[in-house]
Amino acid sequence: MKTEFSLAQLADPDIAEADKILRACVHCGFCTATCPTYVLLGDELDSPRGRIYLIKEMLEKDRPPTQEVVKHIDRCLSCLACMTTCPSGVNYMHLVDQARVKIEKEYRRPLPERALRAILALVLPRPGLFRWSMMLARLGRPLAALLPAPKVATASPTMWRRIRAMLALAPRSLPARGAAGGSVFPALGERRGRVALLQGCAQQVLAPRINLAAVNLLTRHGVEVVLVKDEQCCGALTHHLGQDGDALGRARANITAWLAEAEQGGLDAILVTASGCGTVIKDYGFMLREDREFAGPAAKISALARDITEYADGLDLRPKPQQQGDLIVAYHSACSLQHGQKITQAPKELLSKNGFVVKDIPEGHLCCGSAGTYNILQPDIANRLRDRKIANIAMVKPDVIAAGNIGCMVQIAGGTSVPVVHTVELLDWATGGPRPGLNSSIGPA
Ligand code: SF4
Ligand code: SF4
Repeated sequence: MKTEFSLAQLADPDIAEADKILRACVHCGFCTATCPTYVLLGDELDSPRGRIYLIKEMLEKDRPPTQEVVKHIDRCLSCLACMTTCPSGVNYMHLVDQARVKIEKEYRRPLPERALRAILALVLPRPGLFRWSMMLARLGRPLAALLPAPKVATASPTMWRRIRAMLALAPRSLPARGAAGGSVFPALGERRGRVALLQGCAQQVLAPRINLAAVNLLTRHGVEVVLVKDEQCCGALTHHLGQDGDALGRARANITAWLAEAEQGGLDAILVTASGCGTVIKDYGFMLREDREFAGPAAKISALARDITEYADGLDLRPKPQQQGDLIVAYHSACSLQHGQKITQAPKELLSKNGFVVKDIPEGHLCCGSAGTYNILQPDIANRLRDRKIANIAMVKPDVIAAGNIGCMVQIAGGTSVPVVHTVELLDWATGGPRPGLNSSIGPA
């Protein structure tokens, strides 16, 4: 694609990067076929190619974002299916990230929307606040029925619709807290490695059982696990809201904490059980590339980051003989794992090797609609995607659904009675851990 940035514009490293990305696009449109919003809405401007044109126009003319541009960028899930499909290697992720930052800086959203986004950015990355907000949301649920509801689903939801969606996501109960930051779990038997395990923010409140299963699996296979004390939210949630000041601040804090731990006790990897977080941590090196102090350390941390299944794949897990029977597992490949990190086979192969019957879900490339805060901000598109995902899952008649991302787990659990667990819970069980709480729902009541 031909671009028309001025030399002065190209002196800005972000614009130079956008120029490189835009020039790679040959407008073939292959990406439209796998874009969930284009598949649902059929509007070119809700396709990757359409959004690329909108972003190009906005950046080239150096104009403040218009309402129309914001509408179509907001509808993008950042699922990155388009990047998997694109034959020209267009890095849509870095382009849309830049557009979101510009929108956040230069576009004035209506006051209620600004307030909602500010609340999400304040609460979600802070586990203590998030826990309180979940309790409040549970109390507020009966009020949800009193809020005005649209008669038909719409791709332009009202604020009330978004508040209803937020209340609807609150779980019926919260589990007890998991292990605190600073905990160290020694390897059982001979030590083969030492890793940090990201504690996550929403996940540690909604499902501490996931990291508990990871710790059990790892220590049983000779890996010492540390929960780094001064670690915080990885920044993914605010990054996707375009609030880069917050996201980069969190990235720097984590890099400092993890490098200190690596110097002190040694770290072979930083493991992540929420693939949405893993995708962003693996991108720290890019996000901080212009930061003189942090560019090198950020690249080092990104190189250390691994999804739990990536790391477990190299551990030669020792399954116990057939303790789970022939359980049929529908494997939901989270977008952040399959499109963001290109991890597609390892989770399924691990489950198969450890005694599960694994089924691929039809239309597995399509997002479930979770996408960070998307199911709150765009509830109707998110619900349509969830219902489509659940209908596809039902076709393989599973006993259980496995996924590698808490957002997907909550989203899918909200529409099915089939238990939803994390892949690592099944691997822990198969290798001698407890049976996962297959009926302890993490989904809404
Ligand atoms: S598939 Fe790639 S090159 Fe083709 S239009 Fe989409 S982004 Fe551009
Ligand atoms: S990230 Fe997903 S929703 Fe956004 S343009 Fe690409 S395929 Fe479509």
